[in-house]
Amino acid sequence: MEPDTAGLTQIAIGAVASFVIATLAYLARALTPSGAFAAFAIGTAAFGVGGLPAAYVLLAFFLAASLLSRLGARRKRELVDWGKHGPRDAWQVLANGGVAALCIALSRTIDAPLLLAFAGSLAAANADTWSTEIGTLSRRARSIITFRPVTRGISGGVSLLGTLAQLAGAAFVAAVAYEVHLAPFWPVAIGGVAGGFLDSILGASAQALRWCPRCARPCETNPHAACGTPTTLFRGLRWIDNDVVNLLATLCGAGVAVLVAWKWPSLW
Ligand SMILES: [Zn+2]
Repeated sequence: MEPDTAGLTQIAIGAVASFVIATLAYLARALTPSGAFAAFAIGTAAFGVGGLPAAYVLLAFFLAASLLSRLGARRKRELVDWGKHGPRDAWQVLANGGVAALCIALSRTIDAPLLLAFAGSLAAANADTWSTEIGTLSRRARSIITFRPVTRGISGGVSLLGTLAQLAGAAFVAAVAYEVHLAPFWPVAIGGVAGGFLDSILGASAQALRWCPRCARPCETNPHAACGTPTTLFRGLRWIDNDVVNLLATLCGAGVAVLVAWKWPSLW
């Protein structure tokens, strides 16, 4: 078969498979319509260019995240102040998977650093997703910077359970990437942990924390998702929301994975 025809066939199969999965995720209320479209685009890029190994890594991340968001649904409804509930929209999907999609789209031939960056960024996204989905079930959280107790669910809050979940989340993606021969385990796992750590640091410092005057309590959405009242900036930078932090964390995961593999080639 001519390479071009094979490539187009693969992209077409990737598009159909991604369409089916994105539609199912929408029907299961894991994604909004815009989120489903973004997931479709990322899935098509991953399978169309990266083939089955990349598709497996992306699917493992996506299925685990969708399942975990079901965990403790009743307690998570209390997390409305932090915007960490309900179906994911396009910005949330792109913040988590955009860097991965870009890396895989640019890796037309099997280009090891870009495949590492793809896996590393997804490991970081997964570390954050698992620490959020599982960590918010802990009763107490502390600021990763001041170590003072903070409200459960607030960005930058950490707990033992959340930290263990973060390590497991990074290791999970690294293990899948290793099993399908996409990338070595340690660089991806270390990249994922670094990205997850950066996510918490930024969440406790630069990320916008807002104040709802009506409810007289902090939140991370504008308007306040619980009451619809416009909120004011309370701490951090206006333009750094959870999506921007996730994007930076996935970039960090990609960069650290490549750096570790390059500096310590024995970990390959
Ligand atoms: Zn309010």
